Amino acid sequence: MLASRKYPFTPELGWSVSRYNTFATCRRQYYYTYYTKFDREHPASLIERLKQLTTVPMETGTAVHIIMAAVLERLSKSQSDINLQRLAGFVETEVQRRLNAARFAEVYYQEAPAVVLPDLLPPVRACVRAFLDSPRYSWVRDEVMQPGRGNAWLIESADYGECRIAGHKAYCKVDFAAVVEGQLTIVDWKSGRRDDAKTAHQLLAYAAWAVHEQGFTPSQVRTVAAYLQPEYGEVVGQPSTADVAAFVEQMQAQVEQMRAYCANPDQNTPHGKEAFPQTENATVCRHCCFRQLCDRA
Ligand code: SF4
Repeated sequence: MLASRKYPFTPELGWSVSRYNTFATCRRQYYYTYYTKFDREHPASLIERLKQLTTVPMETGTAVHIIMAAVLERLSKSQSDINLQRLAGFVETEVQRRLNAARFAEVYYQEAPAVVLPDLLPPVRACVRAFLDSPRYSWVRDEVMQPGRGNAWLIESADYGECRIAGHKAYCKVDFAAVVEGQLTIVDWKSGRRDDAKTAHQLLAYAAWAVHEQGFTPSQVRTVAAYLQPEYGEVVGQPSTADVAAFVEQMQAQVEQMRAYCANPDQNTPHGKEAFPQTENATVCRHCCFRQLCDRA
């Protein structure tokens, strides 16, 4: 019912919500993020190192997603109640593991002396707890993950979620999708600041993925933005055929805009860095991992 396909490598530019957001935010940030090895000014190792920097909100979101996926995997094997004490131990271990591996922009750019467990653990715990207390948890346990339902659900995969939308290479990595009585519900966990416009665009991309990659009709697709803090809440969408078609048109226009910055669009090789100007919006730079390279630290 739900399939995760694999595609052979092609050099073609792959559209994603985050790629286009980066492109729209700052062309230079886009260049450093997606064309690292083409830069002649800074060593690729330095750009890569900066690219790997994370922030407390980003790391909170990543930890929440990992733990939610683990909770869903566990429910897929057994519908018995989650042992909250064991879960609390797992959450703490996972957050600590990520803390040990992460390099924080706040520390690198000397905004904070260190990031420690109490910075991350309470918000991660609160998000997971909000889900466990929500009607969505009961729905997953009691309606989705019933014995014998086989591949009726998809839990966030470890890969990049490569897919094809109207023939374009794209990346759509859904957090959770499940089919119940012919209806596909796509759930996206939200642990950060609420941005309804951005979320609506992202969920339309997932709806297009459901139609073009998974073969559903728009009327069979429902999208759910599941906000995990400050308290659990959902925004449910039911995109129409016209919504999905308009999204695909917009996506195609975005692909063309990004391809215009390539010297060889078919090989996805960029023009020189000078074609990718720095943004004039200093507020964006304050949160950018590359600000050292732009003398905006
Ligand atoms: S520091 Fe500012 S100008 Fe430089 S890449 Fe980041 S957002 Fe763009």
